[in-house]
Amino acid sequence: MTKIDDEVRVVDQDIDQIIEQKPHIKTLLDAFRPVILEKTRLLMEMAGSKRSITVDEIRYQGGISLIQQGNLFFPDDPWREMALAVSGAIQAGFPLFAGDIASLTEQIASGGVDAYDYFRSPEDADEKKIKEWAEQIPMAPDALGFFISIMAGIVLTKRAREVAETIAPLSWNKGYCPVCGSFPMLAVTKQNGQKWLQCSQCSHEWTFPRLKCPYCEHENPKETNFVYVDSEKDEKAFTCDKCEKYLITVNRPAELRNIDPSVTAIGLSHLDLLLQDKGFSPMAMCVWNTWSSL
Ligand SMILES: [Zn+2]
Ligand SMILES: [Zn+2]
Repeated sequence: MTKIDDEVRVVDQDIDQIIEQKPHIKTLLDAFRPVILEKTRLLMEMAGSKRSITVDEIRYQGGISLIQQGNLFFPDDPWREMALAVSGAIQAGFPLFAGDIASLTEQIASGGVDAYDYFRSPEDADEKKIKEWAEQIPMAPDALGFFISIMAGIVLTKRAREVAETIAPLSWNKGYCPVCGSFPMLAVTKQNGQKWLQCSQCSHEWTFPRLKCPYCEHENPKETNFVYVDSEKDEKAFTCDKCEKYLITVNRPAELRNIDPSVTAIGLSHLDLLLQDKGFSPMAMCVWNTWSSL
């Protein structure tokens, strides 16, 4: 068994373990399982090619994320290989999208579509653009949007890993990600009480003051709160009354190894339901916390 197979197997077992503890989350985690495992495998395969990314330190420390400093999607990333692998994983986990993704796969395999075309512009593709692209395939815009967000997540995670060492000594005080500019999907409190925000797109993590709202930067104990679920003291949500956003927060003692952040976040989606019922909305829109898109 190769090192890559081992790594994929560990993530697979983490998913099984969470399902064992929380059987109600099985359907959701099983749907995402092929995508999460494929992402793990692709990132391991790409680990050998490392590029250096230029960072303007002054702009960075002024709150300008790397994606605002220059496009992080490069023409020589393995677009075709990633696109075919991601398409297969979506088809396996999301039967609703299977027909649409089959049309897309056909176009990519025949060379009719170059997945890099969706990432040439440094700006996120808007709804109008995705609708236009979907019409050309043809396929449903929802399915194409899902495909694009997973592809973006993989490439940005690779960039975040490549640049982690360069940006580690630089200061970053914002609640959005220094690499890709996205808001966090999760906060992890580590043993020394330090809060680490976990990016919803590129999995980069950075420290942030415990009582400050990452979304609106408001810091007032009277207007921020922690909501607990009775049985689980280690799982809670930070809420801010000013911007009406929430952020799922977990305690992770130092002796525990890191679990894939999206596995952890999906495993806590019962908290998303609870918080959205109370009128709060998530800081980062993810497929599993915006039910209407599933
Ligand atoms: Zn990020
Ligand atoms: Zn806020």
